[in-house]
Amino acid sequence: MTTKININGDIQDEAFVSILDHGFLFGDSVYEVICTAQGKPCFLNEHLKRLYASASGISLKIPHDQEWIKNQIQTTLNSACNPESYIRIIVTRGVGDVDIDPSSCFHPNLIILVKNIPKIPDENYEKGIPVALVSIKRNSRDALDPAVKTGNYLNNVLARVEAQKVGAADAIMVNPWGQLTEGTTSNLFFVREGRLLTPEKNCGILSGITREKIIQLAHENGMPFEEGAWPGEELLKAEEIFLSGTVKKVMPVSVLDNRPVGSGKPGPITQKMMRLYSELLESVA
Ligand code: PLP
Repeated sequence: MTTKININGDIQDEAFVSILDHGFLFGDSVYEVICTAQGKPCFLNEHLKRLYASASGISLKIPHDQEWIKNQIQTTLNSACNPESYIRIIVTRGVGDVDIDPSSCFHPNLIILVKNIPKIPDENYEKGIPVALVSIKRNSRDALDPAVKTGNYLNNVLARVEAQKVGAADAIMVNPWGQLTEGTTSNLFFVREGRLLTPEKNCGILSGITREKIIQLAHENGMPFEEGAWPGEELLKAEEIFLSGTVKKVMPVSVLDNRPVGSGKPGPITQKMMRLYSELLESVA
């Protein structure tokens, strides 16, 4: 079980960036998280496409092409030799003056961190996790667009801290207009009257790769499905809730604001999606 860090093509056990890197000073960076399945990075093309889109969203030019990144990922995976890996690609603005103006930063740093995949307790999937609808609002799209996956996660950190204070494992945020958006590191799905629902992109969310796959699976399997804009209170009426993300995959939610969701156990639609998604991962591996 090893961690390897690739900085601009150089693989090390430990690595450091300068405190003058604007990624450190201002959260001026973009990133992606990818997991392997059977040792192979899952949905790599989709993640790289989003990485480049995020970079473009903050006017950051990634100093290498996608092929170079793919090769570096593979070399770093080979060097770490883990059964399954968590891969984090970070592109920072680079070292510059201690001033938010990025024009003094000439060399973005491209970091690929590979470590053993974190183990999520089986119990979380069997029983579901508790979440809270928090007062911290998701950034509005015209402030820091949640669709751009930047290293500036303070909005989400504060939401998570608020959730933890009331005993929840994660937070669900609404946007400044009170509409449901997403979790702190995951997208939100819920079931109302047998229909699978998820907030639309206009509400201000990250367009999750897992979310896209779930939507595709819902369509392919004839599950009633809708994207839309719903007020936060709508979630209190949900029969089922689950979160989606690269690391947690499909995570059932059993408690919302200290009250059971539906039966208080992962519901049938959630369980079906957990199964379909895990079959999809097996098939792509
Ligand atoms: N929303 C946010 C804010 C996230 O940070 C993440 C993942 O990190 C997601 C959604 C889920 O995205 P994906 O399915 O691509 O991992």
